[in-house]
Amino acid sequence: MNLHEYQGKEILNSFGVRIQRGIVASSPKEAVDAAKQLTAETGTSWYVVKAQVHAGGRGKGGGVKLAKSINDVETISNDIIGMMLVTPQTSAEGKKVHQVLICEDVYYPGDSEPEEYYMSVLLNRNTGRNMIMYSTEGGMDIETVAEETPHLIFTEDIDPTLGLLPFQGRKIAFNLGLSGVALKEMAKFVSALYTAYIKSDSSMFEINPVLKTSDDKILAVDAKVTLDENALFRHKDYAAMRDLREENPVEVEAKAAGLNYVDLDGNVGCMVNGAGLAMGTMDLIKQAGGEPANFLDVGGTADAQRVETAFGIILQDSNVKAILVNIFGGIVRCDRVAQGVVDAYKSMGDKINVPIICRLQGTNAAEAKELIDNSGMQIISATEFQEAADKVQEVLEL
Ligand code: GDP
Ligand code: MN
Repeated sequence: MNLHEYQGKEILNSFGVRIQRGIVASSPKEAVDAAKQLTAETGTSWYVVKAQVHAGGRGKGGGVKLAKSINDVETISNDIIGMMLVTPQTSAEGKKVHQVLICEDVYYPGDSEPEEYYMSVLLNRNTGRNMIMYSTEGGMDIETVAEETPHLIFTEDIDPTLGLLPFQGRKIAFNLGLSGVALKEMAKFVSALYTAYIKSDSSMFEINPVLKTSDDKILAVDAKVTLDENALFRHKDYAAMRDLREENPVEVEAKAAGLNYVDLDGNVGCMVNGAGLAMGTMDLIKQAGGEPANFLDVGGTADAQRVETAFGIILQDSNVKAILVNIFGGIVRCDRVAQGVVDAYKSMGDKINVPIICRLQGTNAAEAKELIDNSGMQIISATEFQEAADKVQEVLEL
């Protein structure tokens, strides 16, 4: 689960990671109040107004702006709240901005050398350990750094039984070119960051940039935090941070209905029971020359109600030109699923405007095929996996 910058910073702060202070606002008026409060707390007279959307590269898209007065805060917030922000990480239409984070300006005016670093914490899948990835090239797109100057990206693996050892924090600070007070501050920062990552059950932290001020403070200016959804039951307060406005509405609807649905780019809708079979089905569609429009696991109980809900969800995608139903009847009997498909088809009437290929295999498969073939509906039955994929291709080519 992805978080907004302000939520990520809140979590970091709660574990003692130094952050650029900020207050979130949903209207220009709230933004002005936030700026006044920040001045009272930190003495800052310049502010940064930052669009809160689940996408990076906001600076490049005009979603991060410096405000040199309270008036500026009001004008800039007025411009940013409600805009469709387009960044290198959003679609062409962009993402709607509902909130801005008003931050203290931490790049001191006249500071000739604010240093920006890159730092992330994530799982190293090659070693099966968490690692800290860091670079002197902060503030930039890390993919570009990886492409053009890969030698400037370092990684430090962490032994899960020992945790982050003090020498590792110092080594990271040293590799970033720091010494003296700044080195000590960076080592403290890294240690707090790693603790926050572990204790919050996160799957990724990306802090870009980490800033060193000219008076040797180290702080997180940006925060991209991804929480492990499977651990949310341990963090009710984090679970409440979910912002459904940032998620694909069809995926949200599917989740509420207990369906496991992921939207994809292709034109063949898939309805499958079991995640493994769903993946196999997508592979087969591709091999036959098609492109899956979605991943959809309807789960074990494929009754008429669930099948109908699933059809409804698949059909919201206007790219879908055919639907492949591929159900294995192990616990659930194929004839019951077939009845479910037929009932759903009947009750949806002309809402179903694409051909359906239905492959039911397992318990009572023969009865199921008969039921489908005798239903009088436009459902094409198949018994074999390959046969089903080929029939999908046939209807697509018509
Ligand atoms: P991103 O573009 O979505 O990654 O958003 P960031 O939070 O990283 O902000 C983008 C850029 O804005 C940073 O790389 C900084 O250069 C700049 N920025 C952020 N905070 C401040 C600030 O307090 N003062 C100034 N002058 N610039 C800032
Ligand atoms: Mn950033």
